[in-house]
Amino acid sequence: MTIRGQAVYTAGQRLRPFSYEPADLGPFDIEIHVRYCGICHSDIHLIDNDWNWSAYPFIPGHEIIGNVTRLGNMVTHVKVGQRVGVGWQCGSCLQCEWCIRGEENLCAHSVATCVSRNGGFAEAVCVDSRFAFAIPDILESASTAPILCGGITVYSPLRHLGVKPWSKVGVVGIGGLGHLAIKFADAFGAEVTAFSTSPDKEEESRRLGADHFILSKDPDQMAKAASSFDFILATPHTDLDWAAYLNALRPMGTLCLLGAPPAALLNIPPILLLLQKKTICGSIIGNRSTIREMLEFAARHRIGATVEVVPLAEVNAAIDKVRANKARYRMVLEV
Ligand SMILES: [Zn+2]
Ligand SMILES: [Zn+2]
Repeated sequence: MTIRGQAVYTAGQRLRPFSYEPADLGPFDIEIHVRYCGICHSDIHLIDNDWNWSAYPFIPGHEIIGNVTRLGNMVTHVKVGQRVGVGWQCGSCLQCEWCIRGEENLCAHSVATCVSRNGGFAEAVCVDSRFAFAIPDILESASTAPILCGGITVYSPLRHLGVKPWSKVGVVGIGGLGHLAIKFADAFGAEVTAFSTSPDKEEESRRLGADHFILSKDPDQMAKAASSFDFILATPHTDLDWAAYLNALRPMGTLCLLGAPPAALLNIPPILLLLQKKTICGSIIGNRSTIREMLEFAARHRIGATVEVVPLAEVNAAIDKVRANKARYRMVLEV
């Protein structure tokens, strides 16, 4: 069968219709009829070849919700017709130290859903079934698609880097990742502060669950935030005043970076880390067990992305909106 989608043919260019013949399904593979696919900032980086990984033409898209249409001959845990989700990762070796530890997202042979293969801006996608997740019935498809990548990207560090119900958490950048980080951190019971350069994000941040708001371009507000946070999640794909955020951490606090701009970022005086044993770290998506847990947590707390749904045919206009940071808060393509 031929799969039709929207592909990028040359770095940075607009997407155009594209079709391909998928390879035969491997024993553990499934084919999914895509219903919704979110547009993640990583898709933009891949379209632009910012990481020098992209091979053209390719169909982007890795926040996929759809229904299973075909099964490899060893697949037993999902059924034809079942609704499943797929995020950034759609395969790994399942044998190395990291896979055995349950940290598949750190596997050196991790397979990304739309790197050197075709992703979800299409009518179908084929993936390893062991990286497809059953979606709890209560969750709505369009708002759940973005949590398969954007959601786990913020949920995993909140979950595994010591955030507690009594923690004071800062979320920097209130966009696709940041708005989900506020929702999850709030549901964890933490006291949440939104940092944004836009004053108009204050009311929206509070509606999403933030308890406080700091206008990050106001040096007075940043100075007043000194020694206030146990954990700060930095979501923007741009350089920031990292010293100011380290200063905003309490002793033993952690600043976790999620954005992946192509240029080098950090120019930090080491003394800012040493004196109060502060940590700066990064995080990348999450392992399968954490994704399953996140979906259960999202179902229990009714958490999904705040989305704007547009037809796949309008993918270029949707991408323009993401590039202009005008999405409120995640663009999702309906196939
Ligand atoms: Zn992504
Ligand atoms: Zn591995």
